[in-house]
Amino acid sequence: MKITAAVSRESRSVPALEEVDLEGPRPDEILVRIVATGICHTDINAHNGRGLRVPQPIVLGHEGAGVVEAVGVGVTRLRSGDRVVLSGNSCGVCPSCLDARPTYCREAMRAAFGGARLDGSSPITRGGERVGAMFFGQSSFATYALAPARSAVLLPKDVPLHLMGPLACGVITGAGSVLESFRLRPGQAIAVFGTGGVGLSAVMAARLAGARQVVAVDIDPRRLHLAVESGATGTVLGGTDTDRALRQIEPDGFDFAYVTTDVPSVYANATACLGVEGTLGYVVAPAGRWVPDTGFLLAGGRRLQGIIGGSANPHVLIPQLVDHWRAGRFPFDRMIEEFPFNEFAKAWSATGSGRVIKAVLRMPEA
Ligand SMILES: [Zn+2]
Ligand SMILES: [Zn+2]
Repeated sequence: MKITAAVSRESRSVPALEEVDLEGPRPDEILVRIVATGICHTDINAHNGRGLRVPQPIVLGHEGAGVVEAVGVGVTRLRSGDRVVLSGNSCGVCPSCLDARPTYCREAMRAAFGGARLDGSSPITRGGERVGAMFFGQSSFATYALAPARSAVLLPKDVPLHLMGPLACGVITGAGSVLESFRLRPGQAIAVFGTGGVGLSAVMAARLAGARQVVAVDIDPRRLHLAVESGATGTVLGGTDTDRALRQIEPDGFDFAYVTTDVPSVYANATACLGVEGTLGYVVAPAGRWVPDTGFLLAGGRRLQGIIGGSANPHVLIPQLVDHWRAGRFPFDRMIEEFPFNEFAKAWSATGSGRVIKAVLRMPEA
């Protein structure tokens, strides 16, 4: 079928809309009419080849939400008309997948960034030219997407689909880090470094989990304001004596420091603010060299923890987050700004510059 997709090509500074051909679903796949899809910084890094290499041309996008239009013959869990949000792809048979920890799938890198199904094929072409697809098992910068059925999370019938896409990556990463990776307990203290979509989701989840202290650190005062609205109990403007400001707030140190930025100095500050047996969790590697203070880590039994996708099982955590959102306890939609799909470049630059926390592209009404 003919679809419209934002295609990344080496020659382009921004993906641009093209008409391309999409295959029908294989036995274990579903065809989804995308209603809306978020833009994540991983899309931008993949397009620019910054720290991530994907084969180009390729269709990116990995926060897609939409309606199932067709299912492969082997799909029994989903039906045409179901409303879904598309989480990342995984193999389904490795030890991590079998333990319902798909973000640590042994095939995760290939499944997310290979530009193809795990068998190497791509379902998207343009006039005979192969175009990479299946980015995070979806390539949802498009009016339609094929996805492995196992990565589609079923949503209730009555939720507004145009808001649900970010649950697939940015929101589940932040919330899952707090709820699943840290298992933060009531009364604990957390400092969140970087209050983009992931950081704000962590702030909201920390309040949800009963944190006594949730301190947001950012260099952008507007974002700190939004962090307070999202439940932060305190803020620190980054860059100027962050260390001391955090010590004043929590003299014994924090139970958790959560780093969502790649600035190496932030890792140093985040380590220094940890209390005894505190954990520093991070979702992006520092850009450039950072040498941890291993003596300080050892002395207090402190830990560094890399976290992918919030360590969450999307089929379990996303419906829980939807319930919390409906009850008004998890207002992640506040950070969303919508753009029509044909204003792709505008949404892209608003994300890249940081003006918008979570840009969501809305497809034309079917
Ligand atoms: Zn993402
Ligand atoms: Zn796996």
